[in-house]
Formats: sequence, structure tokens, C-alpha cells
Amino acid sequence: MRRVDAVVIGGGMAGLVAAWQFTREGLTPVLLEPRGYTGGLVAASRIAGVAYDIGAEGWAVRRPETAQLAAELGLSVEFPRPAPSWVWFDDGAFAMPARAVLGIPADLSDGDVVAALGTEGAAEAARLDGAPLPEELPGDLGSLVERRMGAEVLDRLVAPIAGGIHAADPHLLATEVVSPGLLGAVHRAGSLAGGVALVRGDGAPKPPVASVAGGMFRMPQVLGEQVEAAGGQLLTRTGARSIERGSDGSWLVHAAGTVRAADPSLPPTPSGAPVELSAPRLVVACSAAPARQLLSGVVDTTGPDLVPGAPIAHVNLAVRAPELDAGPRGNGMLVARGTTRVSAKALTHLSAKWPSLGACCPDGLHLLRVSYGRAGEQEPELSAGQALADASTLLGVDLSADRLVDHQTIHWSGALAPTTPATRAWVQGLHEQLTGVPGVGLTGAWASGSGIAALVPHARRTASELC
Ligand SMILES: Cc1cc2nc3c(=O)[nH]c(=O)nc-3n(C[C@H](O)[C@H](O)[C@H](O)COP(=O)(O)OP(=O)(O)OC[C@H]3O[C@@H](n4cnc5c(N)ncnc54)[C@H](O)[C@@H]3O)c2cc1C
Repeated sequence: MRRVDAVVIGGGMAGLVAAWQFTREGLTPVLLEPRGYTGGLVAASRIAGVAYDIGAEGWAVRRPETAQLAAELGLSVEFPRPAPSWVWFDDGAFAMPARAVLGIPADLSDGDVVAALGTEGAAEAARLDGAPLPEELPGDLGSLVERRMGAEVLDRLVAPIAGGIHAADPHLLATEVVSPGLLGAVHRAGSLAGGVALVRGDGAPKPPVASVAGGMFRMPQVLGEQVEAAGGQLLTRTGARSIERGSDGSWLVHAAGTVRAADPSLPPTPSGAPVELSAPRLVVACSAAPARQLLSGVVDTTGPDLVPGAPIAHVNLAVRAPELDAGPRGNGMLVARGTTRVSAKALTHLSAKWPSLGACCPDGLHLLRVSYGRAGEQEPELSAGQALADASTLLGVDLSADRLVDHQTIHWSGALAPTTPATRAWVQGLHEQLTGVPGVGLTGAWASGSGIAALVPHARRTASELC
């Protein structure tokens, strides 16, 4: 049994941030990661010789901590090129109005609104929203928009944007949750458009996301380098199998070497030599299902089934197409549900979106990510040919096979953190039980509120509180 300062289980962003925080507190942690690399869902690959993100590409800027961490790591932050969002319908592609909240326009006479709804449709929406407000407004976003601006605004402007961000029908989204303060603003302004204008303000829209210049994958890379430089250890191809508390109160972690699963998008399987560690501090930062199994001997982990999010599949294309230099569809587009002319659900023009990635591409080379797989629908057959056809339709540029320089198909099976209300309540219960158990902390996207913006401060705090 090797005795160390601290053990971190899980080598995704949360585990790396926790391990890095331990080193800032003067400790030398050991991190266990069953895959052959650290970073988890923040991962890099190369396409046409250019390194790029195949997993998460940035974080939501609503909280400041991830940008602060980037600064502490010596990394520069970059923002997406300012460009409108586009939505594809079978009858064409439309830029979404910039002055909007979740697709609800602040001004129904805006040119982009008229382009999407037609002159009469925009006038009808304005007429509906001009009616006196009822005392009580519907609580869900779908009914609110339908009641105040009509079904056309809901279907063509709001459903694609709100559905793309929250992966749900707007009728299932509580307005106060997805846009806090909007209902109050509508009451103050006397109309939905007026309320949106109050919430949104007059300034240029701020980008909602940021990333690391050079790629998001640089962040886990540099975290790992700095952990090792401070004396910590990253044990890849090593997975934790069980944990227990020793008689002296320290944590005993039983781990083993792993081999790659036949399907590389699935977790590796244990094999190889056992690794036995003991430490006064333990951070569990792995995915939800293995964390539940590891903690089952420590606290009561019974709870809801962990329903994985929608399957994610990307066909990434490197194409030689100088016509795309102008970024004809901004940084990319969402595809409205029910369209018949494309099978993709979204397209991101990666090399247009991220300035540092665009700078790495030789003249005329463009990187596109074509996304497939909607919640509740069967994943279509994926191929570079299908992705090229979908990209051609969406971008309005003929991308024939001879323009394809390179491609990659990436699957992230069951990767997204479970976010049902029942899972949230269960996670809360786990945290409460663990406050009564000394020397152990739980973190990770599923345990801290999803996304990198939430996990960074949570993982730092979890490690600090054990020091
Ligand atoms: C395609 C895609 C795009 C995304 N885009 C964004 C985005 O733009 N912005 C954003 O904020 N978020 C985004 N996300 C989500 C974000 O990537 C995750 O929330 C975050 O990276 C999760 O980090 P984590 O460390 O909690 O979990 P993970 O990255 O899942 O890491 C958990 C680690 O635990 C390891 N593990 C499992 N079992 C064991 C064991 N027994 N012992 C030790 N280790 C174990 C796993 O191998 C894994 O490496 C995206 C996700 C995907 C898949």
C-alpha cells in the first residue's frame, strides 16, 4: 500500500482541477484515470494536420472562475468571432435576430424577424403582443410566446434556439428557470417584446461562451503539466475499483490497470496489475455511474436510474472551399426539427468560429462539424458523404467529394451528465451525506451543475476544503 498526500479518482477536467488545486496547497496528489489520456470530455484530435477540439470547445461565460483559472495557468482566453446564429428550415436559412432572448425578438420590426416570418407574419406577431397583458402570464416559455406573439414566432424563432440550448420543447421549459427575470420585465414593459428589450439591454450582444486560444484541450494539458511539475502524478490506464476507510481514518483506494474497450467510445475495462493507495484526502471526480459504485460502501447511494443524455455523434470535415472564407452562415446553424432535406441537427463552422483555429488552417481550408442525433430519435447512418451533402445544403455551397481533405467521425456515448430533477435531488443528498464523512469530497460535472463553468469552482473548492 503506497501512502500519498491525496488521491483524485477521475482524470477529466474536474479531477485535473482538483489535483491542480491540491498542488497549490503544497500537496502532491496522485490522479487515477482509466483511459489513456487525461481531460475526459475535453479532448483533442488532428484533422488535416490541425489540432482541434473533438469534445467540449469552451465554457459559458456567465461565471468568471474558468477565465480566472485560465489566467492562473498562463493561458489566453478567446471568444467566438461575432456572428449571428442561423437556423435552417426546409424553405431556407435565416439569421436569428441579434436583439433577442432565447430567440424571442425585442423588436418585431427587425429585418431578421421580417425575413424569418414574412411582413405579414411579423405584423401579426406585433398585433398580438400589443394586446393588454393578462394579470397572470403562462409559466412555460412555449405558451408565453404562443400567447403573446403567436405560433409562427414560437416555431420559427424560439423553438430552434431554446431547443438547441436546452434540448427540450419550449413548453417543458419554465421561463423563470431558463430566463430569470423575464416575466417580471414583461409585466413592467407591458409586452413580451418590451420585456425582452429590458432584459437584453441595448448594447452589442456579448458572446455567451469563451475558450482557450489554441483550443480548449490546452486547459487539461496545462493542468496536467503543472500537476506533474509540482510533484503530483497522473496515472493513466489505471481505474479505481473500490474505496474504503482504514482503521486510522485514511482512505484506501484499490485500483487496477485497464485496457481499451473494443469500442473506444466506451469505458476501458480493468485488467493488469493492482495499484493500492492510501491517503488522508480523497476526491471522487469520475463519471456518475462509477462514482455511485465506488461510494456505495461509504454512503447510501440508492437513487434514480442514471439516464444518459442524447447520444452525440459528429462528422468533422476538413474541406478545401475558398467560398467559405466569408463565413456564409456565421459560425454555424441549428436545423429545425421536422426538416426533410437534411438529416444533421446542427453544423458548426469551427474554423470561422474560433479565430486561433482559423489561423492554423492554410488558405481555403475550412473545418466543419456536422452534428447528428436528437433526443428520442434513432441516430442516422453516419458517413462523410452524408455529412458533405448536409453541409452543402446548409451552407449553400457545393462541397463535392473532391473537396474533402480529411474527415473524422466522433461518438460520445452516454457522455452528458444526467440532469433530470430526480438526479439533481439525489446528487444533493449525496453531498449532504458526505459532509459527515471526513477526508472525502465529490465533484465533477454531474455533481456540481453541468458544464465546465460550474465544475471548475466546485472542483477547486472540493480540494481546498480537504486541506
Ligand atoms: C461533445 C461535447 C461537447 C461539450 N461542449 C461543452 C461546452 O461547450 N461547454 C461546456 O461547459 N461543457 C461542454 N460539454 C460538457 C463538458 O465537456 C463536461 O461537462 C466536462 O468536461 C465534464 O468533466 P468531468 O471531469 O466532470 O467529467 P469527464 O470528462 O467525464 O471525466 C470523468 C473521468 O472519470 C474517468 N473515470 C471513470 N471511471 C473511473 C474510475 N473507476 N476510476 C478513475 N477514473 C474513472 C473517466 O474515464 C473520465 O475521464 C461537452 C461535452 C461533450 C461530450
